[in-house]
Amino acid sequence: MSDKDKPRSPEEIQKDLQDFLKDKLGGQVFSIPMGSGEMPGSSDESGGEESPEDEQNKRKEEALKFSLTPRQVKEHLDRFVIGQEQAKKALSVAVCDHYNNVKLSLQSEENQRDDYIKQNVILLGPTGVGKTYLIRTIAQLVGVPFVKADITKFSETGYVGGDVDDLVRELVRMANGDIELAEHGIIFLDEIDKIASQGGTLGKDVSGRGVQTGLLKLLEDTEVNARSPNDISSQFQEMFQMRSGGKAAKRTVCTRHILFVVSGAFSGMEEFIKKRLQKGNIGFVSGKDSDELDRDELFGQVTTQDFVEYGFEPEFIGRLPIRVSLNSLSSDDLFTILTTSEGSILNQHARNFDGYGLQVAFTPEALEKVSQIAYDERTGARGLMTVLESRLREFKFHLPGGDLQKLLITEKVIEDPEKALLELIENPQKDVEEFDRFQVRQFGIDYEQRFGVRLVLDDSATTMAISLAKELDLTVEGYLENVFGKHGEFLKKIKEKAGRESLLVTPQVLNNPVDGVDLWLRGEEDS
Ligand code: ADP
Repeated sequence: MSDKDKPRSPEEIQKDLQDFLKDKLGGQVFSIPMGSGEMPGSSDESGGEESPEDEQNKRKEEALKFSLTPRQVKEHLDRFVIGQEQAKKALSVAVCDHYNNVKLSLQSEENQRDDYIKQNVILLGPTGVGKTYLIRTIAQLVGVPFVKADITKFSETGYVGGDVDDLVRELVRMANGDIELAEHGIIFLDEIDKIASQGGTLGKDVSGRGVQTGLLKLLEDTEVNARSPNDISSQFQEMFQMRSGGKAAKRTVCTRHILFVVSGAFSGMEEFIKKRLQKGNIGFVSGKDSDELDRDELFGQVTTQDFVEYGFEPEFIGRLPIRVSLNSLSSDDLFTILTTSEGSILNQHARNFDGYGLQVAFTPEALEKVSQIAYDERTGARGLMTVLESRLREFKFHLPGGDLQKLLITEKVIEDPEKALLELIENPQKDVEEFDRFQVRQFGIDYEQRFGVRLVLDDSATTMAISLAKELDLTVEGYLENVFGKHGEFLKKIKEKAGRESLLVTPQVLNNPVDGVDLWLRGEEDS
């Protein structure tokens, strides 16, 4: 028997199916398996020995008894997504409305209103500004599965039903097979602008229109088979289950409560919006003439009419009542993303280096430089990843496994990484000193954020702190924390009493902080 004729093992069949799905949905598909995110009520401290099923059931219960307010959702988003204030607000309200309606209709049949219009969302905005990030963060918060795919995969084939149904099944997979939970998940379709028949005038893009029609039922209320007709292995599994006396599992997924979010850059749409504003004599918007409005401001004015002009069927656009426009990110926004977003990729890079036993720190000037270069790439926050990756690649390649344990990323590193790496290899000690000095300065700045009083160590105190930390086998930050950490409130009072902006730390103060208090109050420490 040749290899070709051999019966395929279940694993091989499974792999074929996975490849098939990947091919159908494209490399763009990614999804969050349940349990990967931080969710309300999912506490690490519970410590109990819960089985995965118990845990899953608990999560589902939490998700279905949704009890968040728009303000709470927005506050959660604020931790991760920088800027996009209007979008965060609009989405927080839409998501709460949606899940409250779901909750009500689950409580009683009477609450299931046929005239209810689902809060499906259109997100407009350039690439890399947080469209996916917002929705993914919301899915994690609510505790529902999330699937993202690129709509162009469907339009290319011109064949709709099967493909889009695969997305719903993917949602079931993400919910670890729990159909009820999948029925409350979120499906994100990107590049939706690609299925518009541009401007409604070309009329050539039949497939785009076809995809729109195909999506209509799904967006609203339809039943999708939970098992793909091609999924032989799961059909076997079910047959086996039934033969051994098990119950046939629920087989269809209802899309009534699945939240659909579609997104796109909608380039060229601004012209339609501007024309409409001018035609309608809507001269001024936020105090500006419609001619002066930039892209973000024009998108903020988008209406159904503009989408129809752009080439969407009114029925299709009517099923996406929430329109949210996201702004482009300025280089200041990019800097804020690096320095304050909890999900910042900076942490990821720091962890990467940490994995090689290398402690890494970035100076604010280096991060400003990264933000500026990334801004010029015009790919939103994605540019940050590209810039950091390209500037740090050689360092990640050459340094692991060597003696260096501390690495300070300065503006020079970002400007000319190769030169900076050569210098570092020639004189590693210089970098370690710079790193330690930076840590001392940074401690003073962080201290001000924590307690409202800035500590400035003079040159000799800095040297002393570094050598004492070394002697005590502590990091410089650890050492300074030992000395000043507990006295923040007290030092703040001293600062106010002495009427100073900051407190200067000399070697004498470091030796004996009580002496320092005396000197600060008398104003003699700088003499
Ligand atoms: P898109 O708008 O194209 O969907 P994403 O949301 O996928 O872009 O953004 C890519 C990555 O960039 C995110 O995973 C996140 O790390 C970062 N990012 C984008 N926008 C923001 C933002 N406003 N705040 C914080 N991080 C962001």
